[in-house]
Amino acid sequence: INKIGVLTSGGDAPGMNACIRAVVRTGIYYNIEMVGVMKGYQGLIDNEFIPLPSHAVSNIIQRGGTILKTARCMEFKTKEGREKAFRNLQAQGIDALIVIGGDGTFSGAEVFSREFNVPVIGIPGTIDNDLFGTDFTIGFDTANNSVIQAIDQIRDTAASHNRLFFVEVMGRDAGVIALWAGIAGGSEAILIPEKETAIESLISKLAEGAENQKSSSIVVVAEGEKSGGALKIAEEVKRRFDHYDTKVTVLGHLQRGGSPTCFDRVLASRMGYAAVKALLNNVEGKMIGMVNNRMHFTELSLAISRHSPFDEELAEIAAVLSI
Ligand code: ATP
Repeated sequence: INKIGVLTSGGDAPGMNACIRAVVRTGIYYNIEMVGVMKGYQGLIDNEFIPLPSHAVSNIIQRGGTILKTARCMEFKTKEGREKAFRNLQAQGIDALIVIGGDGTFSGAEVFSREFNVPVIGIPGTIDNDLFGTDFTIGFDTANNSVIQAIDQIRDTAASHNRLFFVEVMGRDAGVIALWAGIAGGSEAILIPEKETAIESLISKLAEGAENQKSSSIVVVAEGEKSGGALKIAEEVKRRFDHYDTKVTVLGHLQRGGSPTCFDRVLASRMGYAAVKALLNNVEGKMIGMVNNRMHFTELSLAISRHSPFDEELAEIAAVLSI
């Protein structure tokens, strides 16, 4: 392998830049020419490549977002689109690809590498932490820290006014951010897509809290929660339980931004390094993960076929600690 391309795809996540830096620096250390592909698979199709010498990744380890930009690209889901992408790769003389993204990104990588025999390694960069084959994804820790900072601030005003806050956090299909940030933020309840929301028991829990002289209550709601989301549930609770002044805060995209935490920078650095080393050792068609604090490879086809198992113990801890 003489020339490796790297791209970021799908939703952006803090720590992607730290990962790009690690990939580029490791490649250059081993005398490989490094090339960036702009805007994910769209850049492959549109022929948007940039050279990545070592200085191109200076001063980015601390920056959120991705210097390579990211995009969702429908054309890559078609055979014609992928053929165009392959021709461009060939014209550039790129021998292998490293893709940083979520399971959609890996689905694209898997089919592309099978069709055209291109060695690919996937690196999990997504705030959702729902990928099979890794304990953590790049960006999850930073997103959690942004959420708990917001919850702490909301708690101050909630306690001063005797308020009940519903805080909506990201997680369309998985409630992992809600669970972690809900525990870390001392929330009274956590509503997630993996569990059915029972309004009755939520209200009795809030009423119990009020009886136990809680001055405020915070309910963390994952955006993919199944009974209609934070606004709808807040309306329903407001109608039936008027002890608190009830408010809703939707955190939205602030959860994706910001400087990555130490944990995410180190995770990104380890994964970026390991991805290049893997290609040099003829490992391909795999997603790199961290399992029990060690780098671990999972076949891309397996990584995209399932999600990480739901952590029942964490849900139990959240319930016990919120009495
Ligand atoms: P996140 O879930 O964090 O947003 P993701 O990688 O899952 O990240 P997607 O938008 O699902 O984000 O996928 C990123 C891109 O991967 C898509 O825009 C598309 O170009 C490509 N892709 C996804 N699924 C496929 C597929 N089945 N075949 C080919 N390409 C795909």
